[in-house]
Amino acid sequence: MIEYTLHGPASQERARIRVMSALRENRFPQAILIDGPAGIGKKWLAMEIAKSLQCTDPNMRPCGHCFGCRMADDSGATDGWVVPMEADEARARSSDDVAPGSKAKTIEDFKKAYIEEIQKNPYRVDIFSAGAYISVDLIRSMTSSFAMKGDRIRTIIIAEADRMNESAANAFLKTLEDVPANTYFILTTSSREKMLQTIRSRCLALHLLPLSDDEVRSEVLRVAGEEFDEASLTDDVIGLAVGSPGKALYYAEHAKAWCKLASDFVVFSLRGSYTELFMQLKETSLDEAYDANRFLEVLSFLLADLLREQANAPLRMPETTTAVGLSNFPRVDATALELALVAVQETMSRIESRRVSASMCLQNLSLKLFEGYK
Ligand SMILES: [Zn+2]
Repeated sequence: MIEYTLHGPASQERARIRVMSALRENRFPQAILIDGPAGIGKKWLAMEIAKSLQCTDPNMRPCGHCFGCRMADDSGATDGWVVPMEADEARARSSDDVAPGSKAKTIEDFKKAYIEEIQKNPYRVDIFSAGAYISVDLIRSMTSSFAMKGDRIRTIIIAEADRMNESAANAFLKTLEDVPANTYFILTTSSREKMLQTIRSRCLALHLLPLSDDEVRSEVLRVAGEEFDEASLTDDVIGLAVGSPGKALYYAEHAKAWCKLASDFVVFSLRGSYTELFMQLKETSLDEAYDANRFLEVLSFLLADLLREQANAPLRMPETTTAVGLSNFPRVDATALELALVAVQETMSRIESRRVSASMCLQNLSLKLFEGYK
């Protein structure tokens, strides 16, 4: 009997056990959807599964050195992936069209660069820009490669599958209705609800759990590379990460500036010093929707902490929270803070929809954050 051993953090053992027993019993589904919060290692698990399926070792899989395993680890084997791209990247001509000697980047070059980034650090939450999406062309180029198939098992990881636009999702649904033999789709998403119900229902759902705080620390240090400053992994950063090494890495870079801005955001909104606040927002350049919403996550944490402070409960970000000095604003009670939290959530959805610029949304939020409680 073939033994399967997939590697990963202990908190996610249950998901791996489900995968391993399906593999062992030779009943692995042809389409699987791994979901869970951003930055917790869904792509990592997808790669472990791809390797295990493609491995041909007679005893122990994934062995790490057979042809199938090596293909799964090779960023040049771009057939094994579908990744979101910017419109101009996805339009880049195929390598056949590029004149000899031309340095023009092709769609394959972009794809390879993304796969390399994922393989280097699968936890990262900022590999793809906010505007990157999976177009119908990307789905079609995947299905066109099915024609050149041999007998060997083929796995295709579709990273951040919720980023398929409507026509891509419909094209993919057709593929799912009749999956070619020896072909396995492994989809990952942190926004399951944004995907077509008809796609979701055709995939086995595998829910991945966040890591423990200790695991977050050790995983970050393992993947971050030598230039990473361990001191930037403060308790506030671990608290903000909520079990996600990808978010911990991201906040290790931004938390200091954003905690300060969040505290100013609250105080200036309460004082009505909007001009000052607008200037500061401009300096912090939160124009990217992704960054703006991660900042708003920090602001939500702060507001929740201010509620805890009023209830004399332990704080998650004591330094930032006490710096606000909420006792100077006696009219701000629990209701005011709860309403402020709702306003932040609403602003996050508005920024996500991208109908209004992120900086405009942040300005509007500061105006209405404590409406009627100043
Ligand atoms: Zn192998």
